[in-house]
Amino acid sequence: MNIVVCVKYVPDATADRKFEDDYTVDRVGVDGLLSELDEYAVEQALQFREKREGEDIEITALTVGPEKAVDAVRKALQMGADKGVHVVDDAIAGSDYIATSLVLAKAIEKVGADLVVCGMASTDASGSVVPAMLAERLGMPQVTLASVIESQGDQVRIKRDNEGSTEVIGATLPIVLSVTDQSGEARYPSFKGIMAAKKKPLDTFSLSDLGVDAGQVGLSVAWSQVEDTTERPPRTAGEIVTDEDGSGADALVGFLASKKFI
Ligand SMILES: Cc1cc2nc3c(=O)[nH]c(=O)nc-3n(C[C@H](O)[C@H](O)[C@H](O)COP(=O)(O)OP(=O)(O)OC[C@H]3O[C@@H](n4cnc5c(N)ncnc54)[C@H](O)[C@@H]3O)c2cc1C
Repeated sequence: MNIVVCVKYVPDATADRKFEDDYTVDRVGVDGLLSELDEYAVEQALQFREKREGEDIEITALTVGPEKAVDAVRKALQMGADKGVHVVDDAIAGSDYIATSLVLAKAIEKVGADLVVCGMASTDASGSVVPAMLAERLGMPQVTLASVIESQGDQVRIKRDNEGSTEVIGATLPIVLSVTDQSGEARYPSFKGIMAAKKKPLDTFSLSDLGVDAGQVGLSVAWSQVEDTTERPPRTAGEIVTDEDGSGADALVGFLASKKFI
């Protein structure tokens, strides 16, 4: 069985992040890492295999992104994935969801997958739409936002937690699965895993390797356009209410009322 885990390389939220002049996210000039939510996807792919001891299951980590995006694949290999695929091509820069899902789907078709595992959202664009688009493109059922995954043979059952209820959903492989941050803590790569990852196979594909025309991707064919961005203003200091003459309570109530908290 082949499992493909989609792992996105995102700007590090704790470092400086910025936009390019055309309002696309700068992914080259900033520090990046494997999207934290995709660590859960890698973890669930590994657990899926561990629970099916003795079966021949290969896990491929796939990313679409610039040169540095290969780091996301490397982290997945260190965690335990068997091989990596990095799709990199200048024409992909600025791609929207539709183009991104096209490239991912073509790469998945090339590798072959019985199970595609994604995170619940990326930590940068947070669209939460790529898994659904992949399912449509690959002609597979989508079983999304899973917190618990069980499988036997070609049957997969997931639990999806909603605000007031939990759904149990069943599907037959091949499927596209996305997992939430409630699915279980992702493991840290061990020293052994880090060393082993250096020898694991890692393929690099261009658009032409996947049979994708460069005119189908990129900013110029995006279905929507980012027209403007504004940096969030720095936090201002809070207001301190002092109570030197017994008027503190009134001042506090006045402040809360002025903000419509009471
Ligand atoms: C007009 C427009 C312009 C844009 N320009 C840019 C741009 O210049 N540069 C840019 O990077 N983004 C750009 N984006 C955003 C880009 O389309 C999204 O980052 C991308 O489609 C993935 O969407 P998402 O991050 O919201 O994924 P989600 O739908 O939130 O992701 C869900 C899951 O899908 C998988 N996944 C998503 N993307 C990837 C990936 N690349 N590789 C592997 N797995 C993945 C992961 O498992 C992830 O957890 C643009 C969007 C629009 C609408």
